[in-house]
Amino acid sequence: MDDFLVVEGLQKAYGKIKALDGVSFRVKRGEIYGLLGPNGAGKTTTIKIITGILKPDNGNVFVFGKSPLEDPIYVKNVIGYVPEEVILYESLTVKEFFEFIASIRGLNRDDVIERVLVLVKSFGFSEYFDTPILSLSQGTKQKVAIVAALMHKPKLLVLDEPIKGLDAMSARVLKEILQMHIQNGGAVLFSTHIMELAENICTRIGIIHRGKIIAEGTMDELKEMAREPGADLEEVFLTLTEQIESIDEYLRDLRRIFS
Ligand code: ATP
Repeated sequence: MDDFLVVEGLQKAYGKIKALDGVSFRVKRGEIYGLLGPNGAGKTTTIKIITGILKPDNGNVFVFGKSPLEDPIYVKNVIGYVPEEVILYESLTVKEFFEFIASIRGLNRDDVIERVLVLVKSFGFSEYFDTPILSLSQGTKQKVAIVAALMHKPKLLVLDEPIKGLDAMSARVLKEILQMHIQNGGAVLFSTHIMELAENICTRIGIIHRGKIIAEGTMDELKEMAREPGADLEEVFLTLTEQIESIDEYLRDLRRIFS
């Protein structure tokens, strides 16, 4: 089956706020799909529905054909999820936390130890292995969450703003891991507002704006849609989300107050 993830017509309101207004897209084997959108566009809400944390008001999600609400254990086993706001068991050391994750996932210590050690070394936090999580920096906590999400060799990685707290070296390592993951038959969904990241590593991008996917395609296809063949993703994005006129207006006002 080529469709790892199918998202159909998701709608979700928080009280009067319509967060999602019919979000649909698919992520296939071998793809890195970037959900790109401004603040409040609906990225985190979409990801929380895919991982089964939130229930949609309408619409469906299928992860390898299974619904996260009807088959939550299956879905949690095939997804590696890194949330935007990482919450870990702060009183455990890094090592104890990984042992805990391995035990709840039913993983054999000998099967995962090499994988964990290589990942920890690559993300540069071997020295913190016996340190309680509460004394780690925010970026190191993020790295712990990434390693925990990769431990069970998930086929589909779902990452909400994964690069946000990472230093340059770790961001590079993560990008390489994502490439290796898709070369080995996996797929990735991640959300970001970092244009450069989306442009560099995504095989396809879905632009989400006000709870809707307003454009989707490869970088070249998006440029064509925005009728901006030579443009970078930032210009394409601002054109498609109709923010380009606002920018011009804001810049005029800013120049006035800074002159
Ligand atoms: P960001 O890039 O800023 O993280 P996002 O694209 O991930 O944004 P969401 O967090 O999905 O956007 O939010 C979509 C909309 O839903 C926003 O208007 C937000 O204010 C609203 N929203 C999200 N969570 C809640 C909540 N728990 N209660 C009320 N409104 C919420």
